Amino acid sequence: MGIVDVKQLTKMYKNNRGIEHVTFSIEEGEIFGFIGPNGAGKSTTIRTLLNFIYPTGGSATIFGKDIVKDAKEIRRHVGYLPSEVHYYDDMKVIDLLTYSASFYKVSDRRLKQLAERLDLDIYKKIEDLSFGNRKKVGIVQALLHEPKLLILDEPTGGLDPLMQHTFFELILEERKKGVTIFFSSHILYEVQKLCDRVAIIKEGKLIQVETIEHLTKNHLKHVTVVFEEGQYTSFDLAGVVKKEMNGNEMTMLYKGDMNELIALLHSLRIKDVSISEPSLEDVFMHYYEK
Ligand code: ADP
Repeated sequence: MGIVDVKQLTKMYKNNRGIEHVTFSIEEGEIFGFIGPNGAGKSTTIRTLLNFIYPTGGSATIFGKDIVKDAKEIRRHVGYLPSEVHYYDDMKVIDLLTYSASFYKVSDRRLKQLAERLDLDIYKKIEDLSFGNRKKVGIVQALLHEPKLLILDEPTGGLDPLMQHTFFELILEERKKGVTIFFSSHILYEVQKLCDRVAIIKEGKLIQVETIEHLTKNHLKHVTVVFEEGQYTSFDLAGVVKKEMNGNEMTMLYKGDMNELIALLHSLRIKDVSISEPSLEDVFMHYYEK
């Protein structure tokens, strides 16, 4: 049994498709990415798991407990960062965080440490904070009570690159302590950098759950060929996924037989060739185009 077990989870809004028959498990200590473009159903899944909205079908457990019946108990051990954070603007950060902390046994030290790590001025008023600094308040709130599971909805939006780096460090430290992390993103490179496994969601349906390693290593190659003048052929090989020509340079994704590719290349005059691992973006686009 995983820390999170989702079975055929479905949420239909009145007039809208939310998510349909979503099934996946997250193991203890994993960093699990949830990726898809805007509107794919990431927030709907997360908000259903946290019992802010009710499933219309299927079920899910967190820590082996039912997300609807045992929501209260589950929440005690979950840190949640919503994709958009809203606060009472008139409050000081320190007051807000102290208030959040009062629901749990949280040491003052933890609060200050986290704020310091993120370079957050806790004596400022919320209304004087930039979007990125508000995000930091949300991050501190999510981590404050040392939850066993972190659920982060688009956590890095609004953070500058340096702060993103600090945030990733924080996440990795939590993981070292055994914390399980579930985070959604539409930014592929951060998922690639951080996650052990990733679920890809498209139009409300889960289309793939894979290890990052498998996603990037086992299937596609990114191929670039620069032809000598007049040497370009149509390159009709089985396994060519996406081909683009730019002058004499051809780039493509290839998932066919390597020998056939090499044989074809051997029969042509070329100036240059490179065969490399695809970016997750390439892989992702490939799944989307299917
Ligand atoms: P993501 O988080 O991946 O951007 P969402 O979960 O927000 O995607 O949205 C998934 C789908 O559910 C979209 O088609 C969206 O329009 C719809 N949706 C989200 N929230 C609501 C709502 N409160 N009422 C009706 N439809 C909604």
